Amino acid sequence: MMVLTKKMIEIRNILARIGQSSTLTMPSIVVIGSQSSGKSSVLEAIVGHEFLPKGSNMVTRRPIELTLINTPDSSAEYGEFPDLGLGKITDFSSIRRTLTELNQAVPEAQCVSDDPIRLSISSPNVPDLSLIDLPGYIQVVGQNQPLELKQKISELCDKYIQAPNVILAISAADVDLANSTALRASRRVDPRGERTIGVVTKMDLVDPTRGAAILNDKQYPLRLGYVGVVSRAPTTATALFKKDNSNLTSAITKNENAYFSSHPWNVDVGTQTLRKKLMHVLEQTMSASLQSTSDAIRQELEEATYEFKVQYNDRPLSAESYLAESLDAFKHSFKQFAEEFGRPQMLELLKNELDQRVLDLLAAKYWNKPIYDLSVPPPEPDSLVDLPKADPNSLYWRRRLDASTSALTKLGVGRLATTVIANSIQSHVDSLISQSTFVNHPFARQAITEAASSILNDRFYSTSDQVENCIKPFKFDIDMEEREWSAGRDHAQGVLKKELHACEGALQELETAVGGRRKLREVINFIDKARRGDVIVEGESQSGAGGFSASLLSKGREAVFLRDRADILKMRLLAVKSKQCANMKNKYHCPEVFLDAVATKLASTAVLFLNVELLSEFYYNFPRELDMRLGRHLSDDQVERFAKEDPKVKKHLEVIKRKELLELVLEKMNSLRQLESGERERMKRG
Ligand code: GDP
Repeated sequence: MMVLTKKMIEIRNILARIGQSSTLTMPSIVVIGSQSSGKSSVLEAIVGHEFLPKGSNMVTRRPIELTLINTPDSSAEYGEFPDLGLGKITDFSSIRRTLTELNQAVPEAQCVSDDPIRLSISSPNVPDLSLIDLPGYIQVVGQNQPLELKQKISELCDKYIQAPNVILAISAADVDLANSTALRASRRVDPRGERTIGVVTKMDLVDPTRGAAILNDKQYPLRLGYVGVVSRAPTTATALFKKDNSNLTSAITKNENAYFSSHPWNVDVGTQTLRKKLMHVLEQTMSASLQSTSDAIRQELEEATYEFKVQYNDRPLSAESYLAESLDAFKHSFKQFAEEFGRPQMLELLKNELDQRVLDLLAAKYWNKPIYDLSVPPPEPDSLVDLPKADPNSLYWRRRLDASTSALTKLGVGRLATTVIANSIQSHVDSLISQSTFVNHPFARQAITEAASSILNDRFYSTSDQVENCIKPFKFDIDMEEREWSAGRDHAQGVLKKELHACEGALQELETAVGGRRKLREVINFIDKARRGDVIVEGESQSGAGGFSASLLSKGREAVFLRDRADILKMRLLAVKSKQCANMKNKYHCPEVFLDAVATKLASTAVLFLNVELLSEFYYNFPRELDMRLGRHLSDDQVERFAKEDPKVKKHLEVIKRKELLELVLEKMNSLRQLESGERERMKRG
């Protein structure tokens, strides 16, 4: 019974899942031969299908690890590329196309690649075999081929023909065996001819007497012997069976029978004989290498166990548990954030935003001091120096405050407030991610960010409408209490101070940028003089004016603006602090206070609705959305891919997987060995 090969192939497939790190070598049959020696035809005759790329220019550029799997209980015949995930391919010409593409993908300059293509073929008509097809040796380097191609192919083959592999050395009958590159290569690594099978193809091209002489060759004796084949069916037959080439086998067998039966052969001939021989030899080799393979696996297992202990402290980990724990931790940190971020925090954010808007309004409607182009006649000096006094009885000042208030209430508070809070939530979520294990997982990061934005986007319009609606009354009438006024007065001072500070800071920066205080003062003086009309500037040119460069002048203008703004701020700060602004009755003198108090009303009203419409909704839905996107709905593959995004986790998971698989393999190996020794016992007794 040939069970060993099948089991060993299964084991090899398990080991393949561990990846390249596994240095285990389980014996395979390595097929070598010169180009056109008939190598592909032999393999196809064994498989019973035409599936290998063929052509005059070299097409095989990568080794093909071909696993044949005998499936006695199923009539289906198909190929699979386990690394490509293309599924079962029943059309063998499609397998050929894929192989051609994979070969062509090797860059011309690289010549050949030692990265094998893995292909398995399952069929009730194939034996269990593991074969490696290598690029054919070339004799003469073709016109368009790189010079080192010959060398590279030879080196690649040398890598594979090492023990314990069996070498299938293909030579054509119409070429003198002494010239067989395959046999010469095999001799180098297997000088006593102990693990080489000689295959002589194209037996039909020589007459039977000569053919028999070749197969009986004593010059290159091989313990496993030679087999003569005619692995090409006559063209008429192939043409006939082109569509359904499952009959390739019978066509070849017929052809070989016709040819070989005409002569008494005392040696092995025919593709069927070759198949049996291959099965037998591989089974024997597998059996002989059981011990060493077991040892190698045990060694690997010891290394994996050691690594697991030393590097990971024997800490168990699975992709699922890793994801679940990470998600729990993240949800926990979110909960903490939710406890700390509520109405007061929203109010502060919103008020800050509105403070800015109030400052902009004040600047535009009250403090505005335009900077004039130097060539434009200067305005009345008066209007530049002092802010006009607000007269409470003047309609003009009433209108001015009303217009400012209305600009504030109508600036789109609903939209603004919702945007500010939504952005803040989103950036808090981002910072939670960056403090979590998810920071190393682009997939999870995106899922979480999207979970947050989808909820926020969903709620955006209704929230902003609601907020806009509820601040609507303020657009028509502002009812203010003294308490609110005095809070506004306090707060406005803070805002003005902060703004003043910012102005002074910016001035400082300009000073540094132009190269010192003196330099800046010189430019400022010049601009001031120009504005007062003390110097006449005849149109400012590209290169500047008054001996100052254009860029210096522009910085100077900025400085003048900042200085004036700072002066106004100081003045207004004094005004707000003064008795004048202590009382709401004087509101026309103190637009800063009034607008501040209005902004506070807007912000606190908005927050009430933001809390209900946006924040509570978000707090309720976000953890659920996270579960949807990162919880049970993910497939095992997705979970695995997620976990492996973190290189550390990936290594940890891999060592555990390797350990588990090696344990499994070792168990299988042990039972195989028991089976083997039982078999041997029975043979002895029987
Ligand atoms: P490879 O380059 O070594 O893979 O060789 P192929 O299998 O592509 O065969 C090279 C050429 O030899 C092709 O034209 C085949 O049809 C032909 N060929 C292969 N086997 C035989 C055979 O047994 N007899 C004859 N007459 N031709 C063969």
